[in-house]
Formats: sequence, C-alpha cells, structure tokens
Amino acid sequence: MKLSNSYIGLPEEFYQVVNPTPVKNPKTLIFNEDLADSLGIKLGNEEVVNFFSGNDLLEDSVPIALNYAGHQFGNFVPQLGDGRAVLLGEINNKDGTYDLQLKGSGKTMFSRQGDGRSALGPVIREYILSEAMYYLGVPTSRALAAVATGEHVARETFEPGGVLTRIAKSHLRVGTFEYFASRQQLNDVKILADFAIQRHYPEIRETEKHYLELLKRVASNQSKLVSKWMSIGFIHGVMNTDNFTISGETIDYGPCAFLDEYHPGKVFSSIDQNGRYAFGNQPSIASWNLASLAGCLIAFIDKDSDKANELATEVLDNFSKETNQKILDLMCEKIGLNGGKKENQTLLRKLLKIMMDNEADYTITFRSLSKVLFEDSDEFFNQFSEKKEINAWLNNWKQALKNEYKDLSKLTDRLNRINPVYIPRNHQVQLAIDLAYENDFSKMLEMIEVFKNPFKEVSEYVSYSRAPLEKEKIRRTYCGT
Ligand code: AMP
Ligand code: MG
Repeated sequence: MKLSNSYIGLPEEFYQVVNPTPVKNPKTLIFNEDLADSLGIKLGNEEVVNFFSGNDLLEDSVPIALNYAGHQFGNFVPQLGDGRAVLLGEINNKDGTYDLQLKGSGKTMFSRQGDGRSALGPVIREYILSEAMYYLGVPTSRALAAVATGEHVARETFEPGGVLTRIAKSHLRVGTFEYFASRQQLNDVKILADFAIQRHYPEIRETEKHYLELLKRVASNQSKLVSKWMSIGFIHGVMNTDNFTISGETIDYGPCAFLDEYHPGKVFSSIDQNGRYAFGNQPSIASWNLASLAGCLIAFIDKDSDKANELATEVLDNFSKETNQKILDLMCEKIGLNGGKKENQTLLRKLLKIMMDNEADYTITFRSLSKVLFEDSDEFFNQFSEKKEINAWLNNWKQALKNEYKDLSKLTDRLNRINPVYIPRNHQVQLAIDLAYENDFSKMLEMIEVFKNPFKEVSEYVSYSRAPLEKEKIRRTYCGT
C-alpha cells in the first residue's frame, strides 16, 4: 500500500506535520473490507489495529493536520484547523486520489482547548451514517475503520475513546480558503485554488476564467449534494463553512440526523438554537457558504471588481435556481412524476403539506406509496390521522400517473429503487451506541449490514423500517466533541 501526500508541496502555513498520539489498548471494532479492496489496501489484523489507532505509521506516511478557518453559525472564526485529526496520506486508485485520515488521533497545534480525541459514540455514528449515505447514493466521505482506544475521554461523563479512519476525495473546505483570504494572503488563496483545481477539476485548468469555473464546479457539486440530502430527509446539522467541501462530498457527521416525521423546520443539533441549519434551510445555507467561497476568490474572478461581483452573483443566483429545480425533480421522482411540470410540483407540495400537518414519517410515507398504488396499505394510511385530505390527494396522484404512464405495473419497482426502506434512524443509532458502551457491538455491526441494501426489504430487518415510538424518539443530537 503506497501513500503519497500532495498537501506537503503546499507552503508551510497550510499544515502542521504531526504524528498521531499512540493509544493504550486499541481494538478494531470494524474494518471496511469492501472499501479497503476498492482502494487496494491489503493489511493483516495486526496492521489494521496498529495503523488505524495511530500506534504505528504506514510506510511513506507523513501525517499532517490541515489548517483552516470557518464561519461557525454565521460568525467568522479565523483559526480552526484539524484539532483532532491527522491526514496520513493519499491513496491513488483508478478512480482518483483519496485522503486517508484518522479522526480522534490526538492533539495538534490546532487543538485549542480540545483534547484531540473522540469518544466512541461519535465514531460509531459517523461509521454507520457515512456508510449508509454512500449506499443511499449520496456523495460522502467514507469510513474505513473504527477502533476503540482502550482509553477514556472526558466529556459530560467519562466515555470510551475511539478513532475513525475516513476516506474522502480531499479535506479542502470553504474554510481553508477563508483562512488565507481573511488574512489578505492572496497569493496563498491562489495556490490553494490551483491545488483544488488540480485535485478535483483538472479539466477546467486550461479554461480562460478557471477561478470562476472553480466556483461554478463547487456550486454544481454542492447543488447535487444538498438536493440529495433533501430527497432522503438528511439534516447535516452543522453546515459551517469549515464543514463544507470543495469536492461536494458530505463530511463531518456530528449532530446530523435523518427525519422521522416530516417538518421543514426540524432541528436536532443541541447547539443549533436558532435553527440556522434546520432541514428546510439547507439549500439557502449552501448558497450562503458558496457566497463565502466567492468572496475568497473574487480578486481572481475578474480584474474589474464590478465585473467580478456580477459574475459571482450570477453563479450564486443560478445555484439557487438549479438547486430548487433539482430538489423538485428528485422529490417528484419519489412520487413517480416529472418535476418539470407545474401541476406535478403542485401535487408534491400538497403531499408535503399534508405530511407536515399529520406528522407523517418521511421515509415510510414515500416508501409505502408503491404499496398504496394498487391496494390499501395500513403502513401508508397510519401516517395520516386526518384521512379525507390524503384520500383526495391519492386520487389526484393516481390520475396524474395515468396521464403520464401507459402501464403502471413497472412503477412499483421504480419507486422502490428511489424511496429507501432503511435509513439510519436516530433512535436505532443511539441504541447501537448504548450497546457498544456495554461492550456489545452486535447491533452496530448489524446496522452496518442493513444499510448496505437500503432499497431492498428483508423480513428479519423489519425493526429498522419502523418509525420510533413516542418514547423512543431522539429529539436532540450532539457533536460529541
Ligand atoms: P467540528 O465541529 O467537528 O467540525 O469541529 C470544529 C473544530 O473544532 C475543528 O477545528 C476541530 O478540529 C475542533 N475540534 C473538535 N473537537 C475537538 C477535540 N476534541 N479536540 C480538539 N479539537 C477539536
Ligand atoms: Mg469539522
């Protein structure tokens, strides 16, 4: 397994070379064999636990902590950086270059008041959630390994510690640009932009306005990402600019959560007191984050600052329009209809309104549409305490389908390939963590298996398709840092 590290070629201020801090008694909880295979990683058990706990260094590894800043909840923090993570290096395979990063691996010069560690709970959470997102078809960082450290970390109480190994297309964020731009280090911004283009969008290198093109590409990938989130009911929870990638992948699974009952104002994160990152706000926050990136790149977009502003504004306006349309397209697909038609959009909005009023479960409602298409389905009707409106809606929906399709028989399969039956529900994830804290990892391992096939119903996994009972509901999630 050969590691390279292209970040090392960047100026000194971009990173700190720092080794992970060894841990006392590491134990591998899970190693992602499928992902390892696809990356060409072949290691024995001993090597896995030693490398992915940070106790040993892979050959050629020059571990670094990356420097970045970021807007957290709208406020600019000029100095953040990898305070509890180190990038071991990069792996190149046929699909491209991937960062290999340990999270929870000890202090770096960016740790500020933190201990550089992670509790096991957030490690398990990120493993389950990021892998589930991957199998749901959402661009995301992935989890290669979860290791228990055999040490404790002080949080609200003492908790077992863990290290997650994550794989991502890169760890460049809007916050990385903001670090240099806020210090007026424009040459460094340019170096970073060139590096980002080389890494993610090499095809734009030769275009005339490649920094504007960079902004457009990030906008386009983030637009795809956020619309996917909306279509599966994912709430990131901390869309700070330091968690907003240049690659367009989901990173930083902190207080994130999936919707149970639908409400656009839904917030889980304990630290998001004003609902800045509520479910329905995600597209406009993405636009806000892109505006921050545009601000960093503005001097390179055009020499004439008015012209540069005009061009950047156009990108942001297009982002909002395109994202709204993409969300409509994906959401209309969930009901088997074409999102380009106004009457279908109206039907979709009506359904969402009824779902909101009835506190209908997001995943179950859409999934059971394929059942209610041809027969009555309790699963579907149980979501609605007020039946009159939803019955009227169903009639209109079926009429719209008949107008669009000659033959409805294939629609069941099609809907079932779009609407998942299994999502990592908060109460299930929390249960897996609670059991892991009692040294029972069976639930965690089972969940990881279940979410590998989120669209295929398996009778023994029925508990994962159920909505939480009132008493099981998790209403708050935490960063766990
Ligand atoms: P996050 O909320 O995970 O995106 O982290 C925000 C910032 O806090 C990043 O700079 C992290 O590196 C830093 N951070 C979070 N937890 C810790 C910790 N336990 N020790 C040191 N730094 C941390
Ligand atoms: Mg972060």
